Parts: sequence; structure tokens; C-alpha cells
Amino acid sequence: MTTAFLAHIRAELDQTRAAGLFKDERVIVTPQGALVRTSDGREVINLCANNYLGLSSHPRVIEAAHEALRTHGYGMSSVRFICGTQDLHKRLESRIAEFVGCEDAILYAAAFDANGGLFEPLLGEQDAIVSDELNHASIIDGIRLCKAKRFRYKHNDMADLERCLEEAKAAGARFTLVFTDGVFSMDGTIAQLDRIRALADRFGALVGVDECHASGFVGRTGRGTPEHRGVFGKIDIITGTFGKALGGASGGFTAAKREVVELLRQRSRPYLFSNTLMPAIAGASLAVLDLLSESTALRDKLEDNTRYFRQAIQDAGFEIKPGEHAIVPIMVYDAVKAQQLAKRLLELGVYVVGFFYPVVPQGQARIRTQLSAAHDRAQLERAVAAFAQAGRELGLVK
Ligand SMILES: *Cc1c(COP(=O)(O)O)cnc(C)c1O
Repeated sequence: MTTAFLAHIRAELDQTRAAGLFKDERVIVTPQGALVRTSDGREVINLCANNYLGLSSHPRVIEAAHEALRTHGYGMSSVRFICGTQDLHKRLESRIAEFVGCEDAILYAAAFDANGGLFEPLLGEQDAIVSDELNHASIIDGIRLCKAKRFRYKHNDMADLERCLEEAKAAGARFTLVFTDGVFSMDGTIAQLDRIRALADRFGALVGVDECHASGFVGRTGRGTPEHRGVFGKIDIITGTFGKALGGASGGFTAAKREVVELLRQRSRPYLFSNTLMPAIAGASLAVLDLLSESTALRDKLEDNTRYFRQAIQDAGFEIKPGEHAIVPIMVYDAVKAQQLAKRLLELGVYVVGFFYPVVPQGQARIRTQLSAAHDRAQLERAVAAFAQAGRELGLVK
């Protein structure tokens, strides 16, 4: 490696550090759960995992993964269309499709790939994609790879979405696809899918939703944002992950009409040119869907925990982003204060992370907490008490 190149890389790193944007990774030495132990031996309450339903270490999920490992081996060493398709993959595709209210589904190594490989095979330069400005990075990248005209509407703003639909129509778009996160991860905002569906219908447009922060727990039976907004079965394209609430290992999917999925199998590049999902993940994900179809107990407990925590943290004097999702952003506004608060909370036994610019807008620094069905009430009470203490010490609350 040339010294000039290495010097350039070092300068980039130094700049990142100087800007306060360098991301350090904390090392956990236990399974993911309500409590985790970090490498310095501290046991802490975990309030920053996407482990919404506590399934990351659920005995039934672990057992199903073991079982699939025994019956179907460790890896497939192949993409799907050569020799990487097992009965487990086919069953998971049909089960997840049914779960989210679509005809069929296709698996990917990650939801990032599902979104990355979604747009380019389905839409061309005669078409239009209308996208919420705060959509996930993988959606933005996927849209970049597609030749369709792009229209971006102000976050969650239905009047601006209508403006984009008008503009797409005026531009002569053949097909128009409106695409949004079901739940936006920084604010916990739940997309207004009922209104989006109605607007799209007026313009003859398609609707697609990324359900990564929703599948398994949003909606009365956990079927996601469409269920929550009363449009279950009426969304054209749904992407999602097995790497959050649905077990938390990895893997993604796209669900849609049979023909749409069929074309993605033929043309979607992350599907065609990347290894198949590990059999153990397919087997465990099937167990997750069984578990969630039998009972809503886990999503009900999460809802209960969320309601408790949202109220208790406000009673402790903190301001939160209003809403009902298990993502509870605790507003600090000042980036330095947010980092100090996260650091002090860790000392007090609560693991949280501060988010600040450019992840959230300037002056909107926050601690993003995430509830889990794995938390018990005593743990949440301890977490709130720690927030109150740290908040008082830093002069954030009285
Ligand atoms: C987490 C997330 C992804 C990526 O999911 P992976 O399966 O981890 O790649 C995509 N979209 C949204 C909205 C997410 O929150």
C-alpha cells in the first residue's frame, strides 16, 4: 500500500474523530437480551436493541435453529438458483408472505439487499419512484440503482406526497411507485399508510413499504404497519428483515404478487449473486412465525412496556417524541449533553446510545431507547430511575 493512500485514509479517520462522528463499538460477551454483559464485566439493562419481542435468545427459536442445523446442515455454499434452495427456504417464503398479507415472497441475505435489489428490476426510465425524504439508506441506494425518475416528498407530509404524484403524472410516468418506511427509526413515526394508499389510488400508483421496524409487533396481531393503519392485504410491495423483531439473526425479504416475486428471482442482483440464507436462520424464522401466529402475548407485553416507559420517563421530567411505537426518542437537543447522558447511564447500569447530527437533524440530539417484550417492569423502573438521576446530575431535569 502506498504511504500516500494510507496517509489519506488516516486523515479521513482523524477528520471523522475531530468532527465527533467516530463510531465506537461496545463489546458484549453474552447473548442479546434485556440484560447484557459488556466486555468490562458490567451487567447492564439493554435499551438499544431491535430485539422488540425478545426473540433473539428465545428458547424455542434457539431450539429451532439447532434442529435446522442438525437436519439441514450449516451452510449451502450456493446461490438459490444453482443449489441453494431447501424446503426450509420455500416454506419460509410462503409463511412470511402469508404473515404480511401478500401472495408470495423472496428471501435475501439482508433487508438491505431486499431494498437494494428491488427497484431496478421492476421499474425503468419511463417510470417514477416517489420516496419519503427520511427513508432508510438501503431504499435510497436501491432507488439510485434504478433509472426511474425520482421524486422526494417531505417526511410524512401528505400534501407534499400529492405534489410529487402530480409531478410524476405531469412527467408522463408510465408506472409510479410510492415507497416509505413503515416505521421511521429515529422518531418512531408510523407512516400514514391508509392515507398514502388512498392518495396512490387516486393516481393509479403502487405502494411499497419497508417493514423492518414493524413486522411482528406493530398492529393488533403484529402483522405490521398495514394492519395498524387498516390496509392489511392492500399494499403492493412489502420488504422486511428477520434481523430485528423476527429473531434478530439476519435475512430479509420482499413480499408482493406472485409475478412480481417471480421477476425479482430472475433479475434481482443481490438475490442472483449472493449466497442463500443459512438453513438455521430459515428454520428459526419459521419457528418465530409459528410463535407469533399462536399468540399475541409478546407484542401485547411490548405494547404494555412501551406505554409504561413512555409515561414514566415523562413523569421523570424528560421530553419524548410523542407516539406509540417501542422506539422512544428521549430529546436532549444538545449533542454533547446526549453523549454525556449516555455515558453516565452506562455507569448506572443502563445501555443506551446518543444520536446526533448527521444521523438526526442539527440541534435534535437524543437518546433513542427501544423497548422489548424481554424487559420486566423492575428493569424498566430501574432504567427510569437511572435516567432521572443522570438527568438531574447533568441539569437536564429537575
Ligand atoms: C434495519 C433496516 C434495514 C436493514 O435491515 P437488515 O436486514 O439488517 O439489512 C432496512 N430498512 C430499514 C427501515 C431498517 O430499519
